[in-house]
Amino acid sequence: MNSFSSTSWDTIVIGAGPAGSVAAIRLARAGRRVLLVEKKAFPRFKVCGCCLNPNALNTLDQLDLSSRLLDAGAIPVDQFRLRSRGRELNIPMPGGIVISRQKMDMILVEAAVEAGVEFQDNMSALVMPSRESSSAIQVELTDSEGDVQVIEGASVLVADGLSGSALKLRDEFSTTVEEHSYFGMSAHLPPEANPGIDWGTIEMATGKLGYIGSVVLEDGSINYSSAISPQARKQSSSNSELLTMVLKEAGSAVPEGFHDSEWHGAPLLSRRRSRFAAGSVLLMGDATGYVEPFTGEGMAWAVEMGLSAAELLLNPSVTESEYETSWTRTVEKLRAERHIWCRRLSSFLRKPKLVSAGMLLGRLVPAVPGWIVSQLYEPNQPHKNISDAQSIALSAKPGNKATSASH
Ligand SMILES: Cc1cc2nc3c(=O)[nH]c(=O)nc-3n(C[C@H](O)[C@H](O)[C@H](O)COP(=O)(O)OP(=O)(O)OC[C@H]3O[C@@H](n4cnc5c(N)ncnc54)[C@H](O)[C@@H]3O)c2cc1C
Repeated sequence: MNSFSSTSWDTIVIGAGPAGSVAAIRLARAGRRVLLVEKKAFPRFKVCGCCLNPNALNTLDQLDLSSRLLDAGAIPVDQFRLRSRGRELNIPMPGGIVISRQKMDMILVEAAVEAGVEFQDNMSALVMPSRESSSAIQVELTDSEGDVQVIEGASVLVADGLSGSALKLRDEFSTTVEEHSYFGMSAHLPPEANPGIDWGTIEMATGKLGYIGSVVLEDGSINYSSAISPQARKQSSSNSELLTMVLKEAGSAVPEGFHDSEWHGAPLLSRRRSRFAAGSVLLMGDATGYVEPFTGEGMAWAVEMGLSAAELLLNPSVTESEYETSWTRTVEKLRAERHIWCRRLSSFLRKPKLVSAGMLLGRLVPAVPGWIVSQLYEPNQPHKNISDAQSIALSAKPGNKATSASH
């Protein structure tokens, strides 16, 4: 077992995805002692479309992080190309970037370490049941050799993603997977396999079985990521065959080497947690639940929650006993703002005939898809600066009339 500089921390952050790293960076820059623990060896592959939307960049900008992604070769996005039943619709979509998750998550971890965070990968964390005798939260860490150590934190931020199990000993946090939930898959193909996808364009092929997004990454390789209906399994047990069917139905080219690629799976996607906080244990990002990847919202939501959770812990006027109510209201507020369009689009995509009709309409009246994109990326930008993030935390304080009225 690696030894840490301390067994007692201000905050232990579990999971080094965007939610965990952003929270850790903000807290450490404010002088808090933070341990960031990650189960996998970094850098690691993550099933993802690798597109950061303008809301995500807006939040990262508050911490001067988005320029690091651009400096590392992130590709600016200017177009979204939807394909369905042989039809194609191009929608201008400026403001986002594409970057591989290996690179992006590593850059955020490096920024965390630079800010003073102690980072440990290859280490699985488990939040222990709460104790009456102490308000400090115990976390059990198990390294890749199976050695175990117990440490404690005044607060614990859980950002362990969709398949995380850091809360499996805490019965108060259950997860409900929605009926008809799709499952996720991703693969990287080498640059020479590119079937004609333009740099800076997000290509999305949709069909009866699900949808597949493809983008060119910073090194020229192609990232394919998909959400597929579990019913599709009746048609084939081979992942690449299912995805080939979706591409062909949509009228997209199937790249060479597609069948032999290494496909990484994600669990059933649409899920919800029974609660988002208990005492000083706060959940962030996908750990709070997820809808679907189509709108490219997941990372925006994750970084926004990471920053908001850190602001809550740093806010001198919120006491420890108020964290649970405050954080629950903050998450509910973010969910209400963001999930509504994601749900609408996800259910629209399950009806290929409607998608085709929508695309026809979009061609005739280009303002319609433009309006949908503006609904997704423009209205909800609570973090114009860090004091705005603080105001979210504050407005979610128990007893605040403005927030109470909206719930
Ligand atoms: C197919 C697909 C495509 C997507 N495309 C996009 C897209 O284009 N744009 C977008 O914004 N979002 C996209 N998303 C969503 C996005 O990937 C997630 O919303 C985002 O990664 C959530 O970040 P997070 O920090 O909450 O969790 P994650 O990024 O999942 O990070 C969680 C981390 O916690 C670690 N962990 C798990 N358990 C433990 C433990 N017990 N101890 C320590 N560490 C642990 C994991 O190894 C992981 O590194 C997509 C998702 C899918 C499935």
